[in-house]
Order: sequence, then C-alpha cells, then structure tokens
Amino acid sequence: MRRGGRLANLLYPPACLLCHARLDASCLVSAEDAGEASVLCRECVQAAIPNLPPVCSHCGVGLPGAFDAAMVCRACRRASFAFDMARAPWRYVGPIRETVHQFKYYRRWRLGRWLASQMTRTAQDAFPLDEISLVLSVPSFWLKRRLKGFDPSQELGRAVARALKKPYALTLVRRTRWTPTQTRLHGASRFQNVRGAFAAQPAVARQTVVLIDDVLTSGATASACAQALKSAGADRVFVLTAARTPI
Ligand SMILES: [Zn+2]
Ligand SMILES: [Zn+2]
Repeated sequence: MRRGGRLANLLYPPACLLCHARLDASCLVSAEDAGEASVLCRECVQAAIPNLPPVCSHCGVGLPGAFDAAMVCRACRRASFAFDMARAPWRYVGPIRETVHQFKYYRRWRLGRWLASQMTRTAQDAFPLDEISLVLSVPSFWLKRRLKGFDPSQELGRAVARALKKPYALTLVRRTRWTPTQTRLHGASRFQNVRGAFAAQPAVARQTVVLIDDVLTSGATASACAQALKSAGADRVFVLTAARTPI
C-alpha cells in the first residue's frame, strides 16, 4: 500500500459503504470476492443472495426447485421476451436492494462501480464475449434525464463496457416517449406501458449487443428496448442487470 493510502486509512478507517461497519482485516472481503475494491463488509456480502442456478435459462429468473439446466420459466414459455438471454449477479433483495437504491437515488458512485464490477464478471461467465460488438444502456426519456441529471443505467453501462473493453454507444437507442413508472404496474400492463417506447439507429444492424439496466423485474422494459434493437437489425441482445427480482 502506498504511504498516502496508509495515512488515509489511519485517519479514515475503511468502513462498509452500506452498514458502516469498520472494515478491519478480519471482515474485509478479499479483493477477489468483491471486485476491484472492497466496499462491503463480509456480513453484508454474505447476506446478499447471488442469482445462481437454478435460474430460467432464458431470462435468468430464479426457479426454486428446478433441477434441469435447460428449464425455462412460464413467461419464457409464452415467448414474452425479445432479448436472447438475461443475466444478473444478484437477487434484488436484502443488502443488494439497498445497494441499488443507494446508488440510484443517492448517487453513491462507489456502490455503482462495485455493482458494475459484479456485472462484468457475470457477463464474462454467461455471454459469448468474443461475439459481443457493442454495449448499450436502456435509455431513460431525455426530459427525465435532464431533470435528474443522472442516469444509473448509463453509469453502469459505461463502467461495464470499459471493463469488457467493448465500445459503449450512448445514442444508438433512445426512448421515444415518456412512460409512467413501471413500479406501480403489474403483469401485462407493464408490457403495454413500454410497448413501442424505444427506437434504435440503423448502426445496430448485425451487431451483438449487451444491453444494460439496473434491475430486471418483469423484463418488459428490457424486452421493449431489445425489440427496437432487433427491428433495426441487431443480431442478438443479451441483457445484463445488477439484480434480478425473484418471482
Ligand atoms: Zn456492511
Ligand atoms: Zn424466463
């Protein structure tokens, strides 16, 4: 450790960014476990639930009791989604839900960077990286972006693209209209709400895309965005989010 780093640690002992527990040697999660920087204590990481199999082989939702790696969920059997696969490192519960909230609503950049490092690892494990030509984010409506001055899925997209050494394109897909928030809608109305709300540029034709968002819940928004990319000629769309809402 550099001398400056040692001095900073003495003055400001490293603390978990979520529960503020002091990170001493015994509770520090190793750099290997936590991505490039240790930002959460061992207790917080252990209370987080990885989105590991059994999950739907298509949309990545946890399937309790499934035993077959090729299982698909009910939504995927109905062919609800325009994307080819969706994966997330974590389930959207407990400390991860809190981490995403802190990043989205309080702009805690270091938590965002930590989430992006976890997403990068998931992409490396789950997606055919050699074939990926482009990273994009699910865009918010321009007015909303301007009012908030912050776009979480853009921040995650940039960080993941940099880590994967893939081009990040901000403007190739856009939201064409304002849509009411999905959080108060359920089931089919979520799909209706975002249908046709995206448009993609012809430059996505024949590209294999990783599409980034913060959380995948019903999958309706990511699917509508993937549909726009496919309509503009994209070959395949892999959705990558920080967390996946359990069924
Ligand atoms: Zn903690
Ligand atoms: Zn599924």
